[in-house]
Amino acid sequence: MPCRTMSRFTLRSPQSLFAPVTTGCIYFVAAMLSLLVSRFEGGLAFIWGANAFLMAELLTSRVAYWPRAILACGVASMAATAIFGMGPAAALPMALINVGEALIVAVICRHFLNDRAVTGSVRPLVVFILALCGVADVVTGLAAGSVAALQTPVGFWPSWLQWYTGHALGGLTCTPILILLMQGEFGRWMRETPTATKIEALALLALFTLVTVHIFYWARYPMLFAPLLPLVLIAFRVGHIGAAASIVILALIGGMATMSGTGPLMIIPASLGERVQAFQFYLALSFLLSMPVAAELNGRRRLFQMLQESESRFRAIAEHSGDVVLDISMDGIIEYASPSALEQIGCAPDLLVGQAAANLVDPQDRAAVIAVHRQAMAQPGSVHKVEFRPLLASSDLECCEMVSRAVVDERGQSHGVVSMIRDISRHKARQRALQQVAARDSLTGADSRRAFLEKLDAEMERALQGARSSLLLIDLDHFKLVNDRYGHNAGDRVLSGFVQRLRPELRNFDSIGRLGGEEFAILLVDCDSHGASLMCERLRARLAAPIDVNDRGEAISITFSAGLAELDGRSTRSAMLEAADKALYHAKHSGRNCLRLAA
Ligand code: GH3
Ligand code: MG
Ligand code: MG
Repeated sequence: MPCRTMSRFTLRSPQSLFAPVTTGCIYFVAAMLSLLVSRFEGGLAFIWGANAFLMAELLTSRVAYWPRAILACGVASMAATAIFGMGPAAALPMALINVGEALIVAVICRHFLNDRAVTGSVRPLVVFILALCGVADVVTGLAAGSVAALQTPVGFWPSWLQWYTGHALGGLTCTPILILLMQGEFGRWMRETPTATKIEALALLALFTLVTVHIFYWARYPMLFAPLLPLVLIAFRVGHIGAAASIVILALIGGMATMSGTGPLMIIPASLGERVQAFQFYLALSFLLSMPVAAELNGRRRLFQMLQESESRFRAIAEHSGDVVLDISMDGIIEYASPSALEQIGCAPDLLVGQAAANLVDPQDRAAVIAVHRQAMAQPGSVHKVEFRPLLASSDLECCEMVSRAVVDERGQSHGVVSMIRDISRHKARQRALQQVAARDSLTGADSRRAFLEKLDAEMERALQGARSSLLLIDLDHFKLVNDRYGHNAGDRVLSGFVQRLRPELRNFDSIGRLGGEEFAILLVDCDSHGASLMCERLRARLAAPIDVNDRGEAISITFSAGLAELDGRSTRSAMLEAADKALYHAKHSGRNCLRLAA
């Protein structure tokens, strides 16, 4: 069954010209019947189902249709009152009061419930009941009572009470049932319910009918409470459709009996009107007893269904996902592991269940992973990520990523975490390779400018702790001439040859970086300016032999000028580079092929 969002339904938006005409005709017939049958005292009708119909019509249609529906029912109400009710003089005010009542209820319900159905769950039903009995009928009752007091011999307060009971009880009992009908809920129930359930429902309704007929026609004692037992049973077993059907059965049988002067209500020593009023109370009470129970059960049934659907969706994802899916309890114990655990982390899911999830994590990363688990529980609704090194003997996994999200109970409190673990070793290796590429100058193999400056930063930190290291800035002399005479390719070969010549002289922990063009920098670790000067001369000696510039055997000798600065942890990196650059400038101005120390 497709997943339906809870208690949302599509509002009707009738476009046809006949729609308001039909609405008006139904309203007219309902109003006419009420007036003919239940105007016992010559004032207002004791039973008024017409407005229940208009409310159901408004609550199931878009606001765009409301003006047409209201106009149609207003005209119908005027006609019914003029012909069968209090006469033409009361027609307009009564019509205004009638549509006013339906409009007040519809506006309140739409405001608080948006487009949710009034039936099917408890909150909307409560809003509807309060709107009808607490606001609309109190207010319109005052107006209707005044009109009746002016137009008929019946006084204001008896009229108010007649209006209030007739309308409140009529609306209460009929509107939700009419809404169910208009939304096609009965049809849906017929289509979607298994035959066995339908037979049970029919049997229960038959039993209910029998009990009702017995109580209203045959029983010697006024046992009005007797039908309530099967009614509640139906609400539990069949749901709100069954409860609605029962109320209709009760209304028809009980209504006919009471109107025709038989049944348990005859013990009331009063007029027919008052008996009908009492019967409406009884009907409304039966409704209030069964419908909210059925609505609540219906809500729970839908919730259960949604839960089952989401559970099977979760299982399908977990069982076919390449990632390892774990359900982890509050205290970090694995409660479920997806089958992919075997393939991904070399651990059978059965063996994982019951273990502490932290056992899968390298001790160095455990604190971080546990912190993320706690964060996920503390902030339900948000997703938390952490990378960790797995602790698995039988696997070549280097790095995993874990994405966690809390699982919450009905009060929104976390009671565990769902985590997805993904192997990101290849991603990490690629990332590392890219970093290495970025850290190296492709022509000469020296450190890139960025990588060298990072090393310089780290060394300056050490200098702050007292280490004595030196920075040597080097620029090749008259390099433009090399390019001019032998071409750019030859120039490139000289640049890479230059780095190759120097490398063997440098220690493993020294660094050479190409800062740009034919400008290089050397970081001499734990080497003061004196040692660095000696080193610089050794480097110069390494360049004594010419470097090959092409495959034709041509080679050239090159020289370099250098500026030397001993690292001072208290100054900034750019100040350090500037000092060495100044020294290099001096070297150039001192005739090149020499070293100058920073001031
Ligand atoms: P000086 O002694 O004053 O440093 O003279 P110079 O000719 O070396 O002058 P300068 O440092 O201003 O010129 C650097 C030249 O290096 C300019 C440019 O053509 C050349 N050059 C820069 N990068 C490369 C490169 O990647 N390959 C080649 N072949 N030449 C480069
Ligand atoms: Mg230069
Ligand atoms: Mg140069």
